[in-house]
Amino acid sequence: MNADPHIITTPPKLMRAIRKAMAGTESVQERLDDFVAAIRSSMQVEVASIYLLRQGSGVGADLELSATQGLKRSAVHKTRMKPGEGLVGHVALTARPLNLADAPSHPLFSYRPETGEDPFSSFLGVPILRGGRTLGVLVVQSKTSRSFLEEEVEDLLTVAMVLAEIIVDDERVGGKKAALKGIALSPTKPETVQGRAFAPGLARGIAVLHRPPVAPANLLAENIALEEVRLETAISELRKNVDAMVSGEVAGITRASREIFDAYRTFAYDRKWVGRLREAVTSGLTAEAAVERVRNEHRARLMKVRDPYLRARLHDLEDLANRMLRLLAGEGIERDVPEDAVLFARELGPAELLDYDREKLAAVVLEEGTPSSHTSIIARALGLPLVGRAQGVLDRIEMGDSVLVDAEEGAVHLRPLETQVAGFQLRLNIRGEMTRAYDQLRFRRAVTQDGKDVDLMLNAGLLVDLPQLDQAGADGIGLFRTEFQFMVSDFMPRLAQQTELYRKAIEAAGDRPVTFRTLDLGGDKILPYMDPIPEENPAIGWRAIRIGLDRPGLMRYQLRALVAAGAGRHLRIMFPMVTVVDEFIEAKALFAREIARASKLGQELPAKVEVGVMLETPSLAWQVDAVCDHADFVSVGANDLLQFFFASDRDNARVSDRYDPLSPAAMSIMSFIADRCRMNGTPVSVCGEIAGRPLEAMALVALGYRSLSMPVTGIGPVKSAVMALNAEALRDVIVPNLRVTTRLRSLRGLIAEFCAEHGIPV
Ligand code: PEP
Ligand code: MG
Repeated sequence: MNADPHIITTPPKLMRAIRKAMAGTESVQERLDDFVAAIRSSMQVEVASIYLLRQGSGVGADLELSATQGLKRSAVHKTRMKPGEGLVGHVALTARPLNLADAPSHPLFSYRPETGEDPFSSFLGVPILRGGRTLGVLVVQSKTSRSFLEEEVEDLLTVAMVLAEIIVDDERVGGKKAALKGIALSPTKPETVQGRAFAPGLARGIAVLHRPPVAPANLLAENIALEEVRLETAISELRKNVDAMVSGEVAGITRASREIFDAYRTFAYDRKWVGRLREAVTSGLTAEAAVERVRNEHRARLMKVRDPYLRARLHDLEDLANRMLRLLAGEGIERDVPEDAVLFARELGPAELLDYDREKLAAVVLEEGTPSSHTSIIARALGLPLVGRAQGVLDRIEMGDSVLVDAEEGAVHLRPLETQVAGFQLRLNIRGEMTRAYDQLRFRRAVTQDGKDVDLMLNAGLLVDLPQLDQAGADGIGLFRTEFQFMVSDFMPRLAQQTELYRKAIEAAGDRPVTFRTLDLGGDKILPYMDPIPEENPAIGWRAIRIGLDRPGLMRYQLRALVAAGAGRHLRIMFPMVTVVDEFIEAKALFAREIARASKLGQELPAKVEVGVMLETPSLAWQVDAVCDHADFVSVGANDLLQFFFASDRDNARVSDRYDPLSPAAMSIMSFIADRCRMNGTPVSVCGEIAGRPLEAMALVALGYRSLSMPVTGIGPVKSAVMALNAEALRDVIVPNLRVTTRLRSLRGLIAEFCAEHGIPV
């Protein structure tokens, strides 16, 4: 590379030609025409053409010949093909360049007589990408049979990127008068995209794309050497920044989960990635454009990867590109966003979310994501509405669009009409009032009208959750999901790190109990540092206690950390996914060994220990008496219990809401468990999501549950409902309908009616 920025190196010939073509022309069509003319002459080919995707993007959209030099001009805006059809369609579909010396012999070649393309032998097509979206295809063809050089492919990719910006920019400025009307570019209509609510709430705000596109003004390098220096400086700053994150020098919340950033460091030093960036700058792009180009290629590839683990890794690499862009723009790493920003991203890591100023974020919308992802968990902990799996939303949104996020229904309204806004605002106001009302209840206990005292506990797992204990006025942590710490790390948390987290949780709770659930790993909860073992049915595969008992090393290590964290305190632990009583007995024995070991080493022991069992397999419900002989308490993991009860995958959007937890069948198993535990004198609680929904929570209280553990957002609504409830009266409504002879499909209607009659706020 050129080290001295003062020596002006000229961008390649093609780039100069493009620059010239871009100056002084008016309409987009003219620009496209000039563009293809410049490409044709400087690359010395017979044909240069632009194909653009028409509106109705995605499946079914057509690629339309939009400008050409060398094919018949009469075919412009007439010749069309589907993505996947012919060579051009193939480039659009794969989002990769296609370089052929003998195009007609390619199996996908499709002959279009109206274009007069018979005599052309070589073909080079590159995708026109923007923000991971394919806008079209740029093609050059020549009569002589030759394979295009790698530099030529690079150059054409660069040109394609410049082209994408021009097209989008013109459309934005030109509005209705845009020459490319009908081409699928930036959207303007109101639209609703349906996704799933992963963190509840409502929000109204302004769209901010997690990856804003590069300003078109800076695409072409004036001085390549200068750009090379800028790029190198940014790379070294990026490395410094990532190193600092790994060593924990970055302030605030990120320190708690700095292991996340180790993966980033690997990429920041990745030679291939850096090599691609350098190549792109040498081909005539500015440093920003180089980053953008390498990322676009990367993203197009990413969209085709199915394996979630690999996607997550590739995603880290994408995030680095954004950090680079911000460094090049002279911005800090903290992301500055306007007030009430609704953040849109394909996928977002927890660290990335935490880079934003929480005060300014109104909501998050993701094309992907899962309810159990760390980002969803953190969003819930921060009280930030999050809609995930909003498929295609990034193709429909532009920076600055107004947005309504309905994370109750899982819907995202883009560019809403006034009437939609008015209705939504009403709901927002009601919600705001309710939040204030829940705040008032913070210091009151959840006691029903007929005097039943109910503990309302928090489900937690990370440091970020702990402040919620006081903010929500929870009675303790009913479920501490210890695997979260393992999942957000790229390396196995050491004993000291585990101990520290558990100790902090116990300290944050003060006199209130904290129940640690031992690692619930496996299935789809794969750790970056664990070799994934492919399984047909991970949810019913080798997971949780099954791994813990087969490979006791990891579980003993964790139990050791728990014993150390509980020194002098009250320690409560429970084991997940127990299916037969013997598993629980074996797990307890492992725990006893750790207590004995600590005692032998003269360590301070917990002042009080309770070992409980999670009841989350139907099989264990049928052994509840037997397990009560050994367990200090039972916690019903209703998420899993009901997924196995209904044989309905809790993470599969198609079926997860299909069966009603308030059906007589589900309620009778919950009632059975509560009754048996009471008869055995064993305390019982419920810690699945249903515990945080007012109707379900009231039904559980009516059935005899006196402890419910839930996401933070459930505590206010459940408390206000429980305080207005007469539990015995509701029991009289529910119990007669639990008989196996009942024909009732759900108790939901009856309970809702009961609430209406008794003025219970739900
Ligand atoms: C459950 O299964 O209900 C539960 C609380 O555990 P998790 O959601 O972590 O599987
Ligand atoms: Mg579970």
